[in-house]
Amino acid sequence: KSSGRGTYRRFDVAMHAQLQAHQKMKIALRGALERNEFELFYQPLISLKSRRVTGCEALLRWRNPERGMIAPSEFVPIAEETALIVTIGEWILAEACREASLWPEHVSIAVNLSPVQFKHRNLVKAVADALSSSGLNPARLQLEITESVLLDESEHNVQVLHDLRSLGVKIAMDDFGTGYSSLGYLRTFPFDKIKVDQAFVRDLPHGKESLAIVRAVAGLGRSLGMTTTIEGIETEDQLAIANAEGFHEVQGYIFSRPVPAGEISRLIEDGSL
Ligand code: C2E
Ligand code: MG
Ligand code: MG
Ligand code: MG
Repeated sequence: KSSGRGTYRRFDVAMHAQLQAHQKMKIALRGALERNEFELFYQPLISLKSRRVTGCEALLRWRNPERGMIAPSEFVPIAEETALIVTIGEWILAEACREASLWPEHVSIAVNLSPVQFKHRNLVKAVADALSSSGLNPARLQLEITESVLLDESEHNVQVLHDLRSLGVKIAMDDFGTGYSSLGYLRTFPFDKIKVDQAFVRDLPHGKESLAIVRAVAGLGRSLGMTTTIEGIETEDQLAIANAEGFHEVQGYIFSRPVPAGEISRLIEDGSL
């Protein structure tokens, strides 16, 4: 009996510690933007036709004074709870467009949008402002959304997607095949690009099921007139599959990890797969 109670107590203590860490991070996040602790890393997307960089994805990092570099999977969900992601998201858009305006005209910039940003009226204006203050050609900006954007509030969100598209930017469906995947989503909005999630790449070349899914999505994307991208390519064997299945572009460690802004220009100029 007493050991049972002890187990509960240990559980409570662990839960409490977790909750405290969560609260602590939430508070630290609040001032992080003013303290300039956020940074964008950039990961190249490579055209399989030219084997050169055609675009880069902006990936958020948090340089925490106590903990060092923190990955977005650890803090973006917390920033989404408080709508802090809206202010951070505006900074990301402005910063990514400003950086991309320094790159050659043929290189695009991809920015991830949180579903929470769609709930706020400001999203279209934030994108328009980022474009006008950077002078970036809107056709060079790609906004990456996940299926969850089409899950709730889908009517409002689809309208926002159309409004964004009217600015001249491109819309990409990110992490396709995970989450609440439904092929119907591809009918609700004419996406410019589809990115196959790295979950289907991880066990390639051996995973038969993954290969079948990757092949199907490549075909689907092509028939719908979308640019097809495959993420998380790490090995030559995986690259060979991306080529064989006719993907337009690849993204992954095989070419480069995400790098700080200072290192991306060299990859854009000299990098070749
Ligand atoms: P995502 O948009 O699907 O980004 C791709 C993730 O895969 C990145 O992780 C990237 O570093 C990682 N990756 C790329 N190539 C490889 C590879 O070959 N192997 C492996 N194992 N991983 C690879 P990261 O930077 O940790 O970002 C994770 C997720 O956090 C992103 O997934 C995105 O959903 C979210 N995120 C990142 N930056 C932002 C942002 O600025 N705003 C919002 N709302 N979300 C962001
Ligand atoms: Mg993405
Ligand atoms: Mg993705
Ligand atoms: Mg992802």
